[in-house]
Amino acid sequence: MSELAYPYEAPASQALFDRAAAVTPGGVNSPVRAFRAVGGTPRFMVSGTGPYLTDADGREYVDLVCSWGPMILGHAHPEVIAAVQEAVARGTSFGTPAEGEVALAEAMVERVAPLEEVRLVSSGTEATMSAIRLARGFTQRTKVIKFAGCYHGHVDSLLAAAGSGVATFALPDTPGVTGAQASDTIVLPYNDLEAVHAAFAAHPGEIACVITEASPGNMGVVPPLPGFNQGLKDACAAGGALFVSDEVMTGFRTSRAGWYGVEGVVPDLMTFGKVMGGGFPAAAFGGRADVMAHLAPAGPVYQAGTLSGNPVATAAGLAQLRLLDDAAYETVNAVSARIQGLVTEALAKEGVAHTVQTASNMFSVFFTDGPVVDYEDAKAQESFRFTAFFHSLLSNGVYLPPSSFESWFVSTAHDERAVQRIADALPAAARAAAEATA
Ligand code: PLP
Repeated sequence: MSELAYPYEAPASQALFDRAAAVTPGGVNSPVRAFRAVGGTPRFMVSGTGPYLTDADGREYVDLVCSWGPMILGHAHPEVIAAVQEAVARGTSFGTPAEGEVALAEAMVERVAPLEEVRLVSSGTEATMSAIRLARGFTQRTKVIKFAGCYHGHVDSLLAAAGSGVATFALPDTPGVTGAQASDTIVLPYNDLEAVHAAFAAHPGEIACVITEASPGNMGVVPPLPGFNQGLKDACAAGGALFVSDEVMTGFRTSRAGWYGVEGVVPDLMTFGKVMGGGFPAAAFGGRADVMAHLAPAGPVYQAGTLSGNPVATAAGLAQLRLLDDAAYETVNAVSARIQGLVTEALAKEGVAHTVQTASNMFSVFFTDGPVVDYEDAKAQESFRFTAFFHSLLSNGVYLPPSSFESWFVSTAHDERAVQRIADALPAAARAAAEATA
């Protein structure tokens, strides 16, 4: 990498990264944080307020990652912090049922009509893993259909052709996943209903479920084509399989009722995480009561967790959901649309081939002429332009996901000053993208 790619230093972050690398593989606790796709020193953040993050070197950034989705009200929202402080003072974990988890489940069920019952867990990975197990237990079948470029956490059987970090690092498969686990997974191209029908025809009576991101954000933002999700639902109903909609990213972000609230397609099971945890480890899966009744202790499919429904996490999640009224979504959608417009304007002015794709307030930029409808399209973009674009923005105080295969996220806290910082930084970033070479 030339010096030009990193026109600034981050000595305090670098020192922390060096320390981290001595005790943690690759220096990070989740691969995409490591900046490997874009190069340079990952920023170690010390605080967040509203739309801003401050790193160990004292530099402030407008945050367009929002903890990869959860921080839809911005960082350290006073009412969320107050709810957490109140909860934490009462004790951090009881290992018994507590009212907070009931209240969070009720709030979720009230917002999302197909959600008749929910089980709380601690991560999105646990949610999808448990939903798949339940679907298999319920249908007494083994095979799962997933789509290339969709990421459902690091569940063994779902890592095949996955998005997010798996896409960023171009990993076809992951060592450690057995042939048996992989062979029960059928990976199909996204947005291709014909392929789904063919898979059902090829495996009659074997498919337990189809799992899909409700609107994918882990290969960049690639929304479902009109009718795709309904087609999946219909194919599952006809084939005796369950339709599992993964709303870990879209849930309570793309609308009050998540992507279900945008499109209205009714899944059999749904998974959630991110926004519902208010920045704490809380996630969930749920759906049809007759299916959920198969879960232990009501039924035979085992699933459990020491910290499931943790009182601090549920307090944070509930406080965040209560603040997410229609006006909040209007605010997030409006600021998202403004930033999308600014990005398009800056790149178009420099003649950079690109397409900005959106799913409600989630969006991302592909450095290729669109539309991008599947993982193959997403991979065909000129990612080297993203690298230059990313570092130019970073050096001017705007923090993007460090990969072209990720959604950008905004919050209700992204105000005029934050948008202006982005607007000021974009022309140079667009020029850097235009001048970048492979
Ligand atoms: N499902 C989707 C759609 C996701 O975007 C993610 C994480 O990004 C997950 C599942 C896994 O969630 P977690 O990282 O909480 O395990």
